[in-house]
Amino acid sequence: MSTDTPSGGEAPARPAASPALAPTTSLAPAGSAPGSAPAPTVVSPARPAASLASAGSAPAVTALAGGVGAARMLAGLAAVLGQPSIAAVINTGDDTVLHGLHVSPDIDTVTYTLAGVSNREMGWGLAGETWTVMEALGSFDGVAGRSLTWFSLGDKDLATHLYRTGRLAEGATLSQVTADVAQRFGVGAQLLPMSDDRVETRVTLRDGHEAYGHEAYGHEAYGHEAYGHEAYGHEAQTKGQPARMPAGSPAGAVVSFQEYFVGLAHAVPVAAVDFAGIEAARPAPGVIEAVETADLLVICPSNPVVSIGPVLGVPGVAQAVTRRRETTVAVSPIIAGRALKGPADHMLAELGYEPTAAGVAEMWAPYAATIVIDNADAALAGRIETLGVRCVVAPSVMSGPAEAAKLAEAVLGVAP
Ligand code: GDP
Ligand code: CA
Repeated sequence: MSTDTPSGGEAPARPAASPALAPTTSLAPAGSAPGSAPAPTVVSPARPAASLASAGSAPAVTALAGGVGAARMLAGLAAVLGQPSIAAVINTGDDTVLHGLHVSPDIDTVTYTLAGVSNREMGWGLAGETWTVMEALGSFDGVAGRSLTWFSLGDKDLATHLYRTGRLAEGATLSQVTADVAQRFGVGAQLLPMSDDRVETRVTLRDGHEAYGHEAYGHEAYGHEAYGHEAYGHEAQTKGQPARMPAGSPAGAVVSFQEYFVGLAHAVPVAAVDFAGIEAARPAPGVIEAVETADLLVICPSNPVVSIGPVLGVPGVAQAVTRRRETTVAVSPIIAGRALKGPADHMLAELGYEPTAAGVAEMWAPYAATIVIDNADAALAGRIETLGVRCVVAPSVMSGPAEAAKLAEAVLGVAP
């Protein structure tokens, strides 16, 4: 197998359904925002970002985070403020069990990125990874009657999953393990899973649609070269489908997030997304405090539905964030109608949201008084402000650490 891609062919070893799997919450479209529209704003920091640096134990910034988009934003914030000033509340709806190992993709992406050891080319995993275990595991495909390697886990990355799984089996919480892993990687930011309780993002595939190809949602404007991530393309995400996926059109099937994202290369239309177990989930220790005590909240440029949606869906979190609306800044992951990576653009459209920065602003209007959108979307600023959301226009493609830090300065500079 190639050493740089998830590859394909079998169903992941899904965790046993939680005892009371029934409770699910679908992401509901946001209502309209309160307040009137202030004049459009172009980035002009109101005060030095450094003044936000936290003096005490409260974080200067608490960020609601998914994976890659969030990790870059956090790295930018960390470059400006220092890691100890930052807390992140991270999505765990993507967590999955593979080969009996508990994998927390978004937590790991944030951890590895803040540690400076992420694999920027692949967009996931560790730099300098080797694949000996996956190659050996592939030799079991024949006796297993299915591919065991549709979801690649690198050798070094596996150590993280082994550690996490072992500790969880001993009775540690995901919060404790996440803090341990952060410590081992020298991450100074406070990394909090959204919940220690199991929440499982599930995707219902749309009826009557064949899987579509790359072209339908090509990313010309922000193509691979511009972003510098070849492996972000759909082909790179998969070499086959989990075996339990029906051949051909899987319309109507309910699949786990990873089956959709990796197994199907997120190239099939979505009818619904729900978060199994979320109604019974409790915010992890420190989550509400981090939201309540930070000087500034940031909603990272992550997939609004499947990355930020679960975080806000944990009972109590949305309410706590709403109370902080005036000091919450969202950053749009949609630029010129496109996601830089992943399915956010077409997923928004499929679920009835407008797949633009204005659509994102509408979703976050109840939670964030300010949104940062890309220069490419400057024309949407007036419309966004009619939603009662202050709109800041700034370069928002974090193609490298310098660009990420610059965006972080824009985010920090607009703090009221
Ligand atoms: P995942 O969990 O790894 O898929 O990552 P996230 O949900 O955190 O992030 C995916 C989203 O991040 C996509 O919608 C991208 O458009 C967005 N994203 C990635 N990099 C950037 C960036 O540099 N700037 C902005 N504005 N959005 C980004
Ligand atoms: Ca994710």
